[in-house]
Amino acid sequence: MTRISAVPHIAAMTPYALADLSVPAGKRLISLAQNESLRGPGPLAVQAARQALCSAQLYPDPDWVALRGAIAEVHGVPAGTILCGAGSMELIGCLAHAYGGPGARILSTQYGYAFFRTAAEITNAGFDIAPETGFTVGVDALLSAVRANTKMVFLANPGNPTGTRISADEIRRLRNGLDARILLVVDEAYGEFADGQDAPVFDLARQGNTVVLRTFSKAYGLAGMRVGWGVFPGPVAAEIRKILNPNNISAASQAGACAAMQDQDYMKETCAITASLRESFTDQLRALGLAVERSHTNFVLIRFAGEQQAQSACRALRAEGILMRGMGSYGLRDCLRATVGSSADMAFAARVLSDWLAGEDPR
Ligand SMILES: *Cc1c(COP(=O)(O)O)cnc(C)c1O
Repeated sequence: MTRISAVPHIAAMTPYALADLSVPAGKRLISLAQNESLRGPGPLAVQAARQALCSAQLYPDPDWVALRGAIAEVHGVPAGTILCGAGSMELIGCLAHAYGGPGARILSTQYGYAFFRTAAEITNAGFDIAPETGFTVGVDALLSAVRANTKMVFLANPGNPTGTRISADEIRRLRNGLDARILLVVDEAYGEFADGQDAPVFDLARQGNTVVLRTFSKAYGLAGMRVGWGVFPGPVAAEIRKILNPNNISAASQAGACAAMQDQDYMKETCAITASLRESFTDQLRALGLAVERSHTNFVLIRFAGEQQAQSACRALRAEGILMRGMGSYGLRDCLRATVGSSADMAFAARVLSDWLAGEDPR
């Protein structure tokens, strides 16, 4: 067979790793590995998506008019400043393409979302990270890590996999401290879980050099529909539109996301249920002597005594069908990230961890 070579920087890449979802035969899979919502989309969203399937011979709306209108109304931002993507991952990828590229450097944080690095590598841009302190992003550390050819900064707030967040004032301080020619992308994939604690930062897009991203994949329970969105400065949006797939979001996904946005009560209820289960799970694990970061998301980062303990716990959980995510790729080999699942699943996970600890050599 002839072997065709890819361009060198693609050939040198390691593939973006999704979670390994295999469990022992006969075990029910309890996936706490991908930060999916503990419940499905609301009935109005499901009904709207179903209805849209009846017209699936037609291409979807390339301008996402209804969806953008719903987002604009809820968030008080002009519809014309919103772009929608097939998941926010598509928007992240397009932003890196348009503003990264060979010779450019893209900056993020020590425990920032792994896909930022992948997006940078795809464009052959360099990638830098600023250290975090206490699993939390520091604005001064980010500002110190800027280099002469830094073209963009990706910041997940709240962070994944840490679950921690910095305040809107700190985001504004970051923006003011960065050179105005650096594009700042604030990825608020978990923003809905923290809304109400702080004022939104969507208005930063008006300055021309900041993008704020959100997604329907987490709080709205629509990860399988692939819909993300963001507030963009006009000229940035114009560049991104050139490289977005022009028919990127299926009609069913647009209709489902639009109805989900219009049903804020359902989403807020999901966030409230999630927060309550997250806090009780955190308390249970802390009572067992495990270190758990305070989270503003639908997951928690659990810190074990060491790498071996984290791996041993991961195996014990997997043997019972429960999947948590190993964090070795972030350099957090002593940690597992656990998505907040249903009440029964979290009680089961806490019990398995408690039994595992009882059988562990305490050293
Ligand atoms: C889950 C997640 C996303 C989401 O992606 P979609 O493509 O919208 O599903 C983006 N950023 C972060 C930090 C995430 O954790």
